[in-house]
Amino acid sequence: MIIDAHADISGFLVRQAKSGHCMALEEAVLPNLQTGGITGVVNAVYLDKQELNTPKASALRQIEELRRQIDLSQDMAIVTSAGELEAAYQRDQIGVFLSLEGAEPIEEMTDLDVFYEAGVRMIGLTWNGANRYAGGCAAPHFGLTNQGIELLDRMARKNMLLDLSHLSDPATDEALERFQGLPIASHSNARSYADHVRNMTDEQLRRVAERGGVVGLNAISLFVSELFPSVEHLQRQLDYLIYTCGEDHVGFGFDFCDRYFPGPKEDGFDVLAGPELAYDFQESLRLPGRIKDKIAWQNWLRIYETL
Ligand SMILES: [Zn+2]
Repeated sequence: MIIDAHADISGFLVRQAKSGHCMALEEAVLPNLQTGGITGVVNAVYLDKQELNTPKASALRQIEELRRQIDLSQDMAIVTSAGELEAAYQRDQIGVFLSLEGAEPIEEMTDLDVFYEAGVRMIGLTWNGANRYAGGCAAPHFGLTNQGIELLDRMARKNMLLDLSHLSDPATDEALERFQGLPIASHSNARSYADHVRNMTDEQLRRVAERGGVVGLNAISLFVSELFPSVEHLQRQLDYLIYTCGEDHVGFGFDFCDRYFPGPKEDGFDVLAGPELAYDFQESLRLPGRIKDKIAWQNWLRIYETL
């Protein structure tokens, strides 16, 4: 089993559907997941600039399109818990969780219930910029707003996971103090190894681990290493995360972006050439099998058991 805790699939499906390709999940995404041995994946609802004009409607549209295509597939299932993921695995299906990458779709607090009902179990408050809930990593002077604190309280009452990836440093630190639920960082690396605002400080990584969370290893070159990012550096990032957080608090959150889809790719954007390499990467790790299993799936599964 391999779990990839961050993939932006549903935005692609909506763009494809608009241009007449209404089976892109089955045709373009599924084969890559299967080749890579990925048996669980978290679909992040990420909104582009235009979609952010109508965030709630746009996010629901993505979820609806993803559900429509999964309902037509024998090989995938939407899941909302560890039990459902394991049941899907027993049926040879890839389990797909839903998360929000940026809480803009929650236009008013009661919308949290709408998205929970739609299957969302994890939320990152921001993408890179700031919004009404918090500062993002490109807005370093903003922490949590009062609305952000209220949203965290409501999420905790629903046992939802808070995703710290993309938050500003002050928002991350405040959230680690105030959030009563389980914090994760679905797709972030160690800043000590690659100095980038999207990565986390050693202190933040340790706090996530202390709070019982998991950090997902990201394969985007910029976040892997400042110098000649490579698969070797991705392994060293992983070693560093394990050294800092402990072997029970690290997983994969590859963030393959458009590597999930056909078409031209930006050269050197990431150090793994797509989800089809997930299995090979896991096999290549110079770690005992029991630790590989924790990193590949057991740690995330333990997190999902709290949902
Ligand atoms: Zn992201």
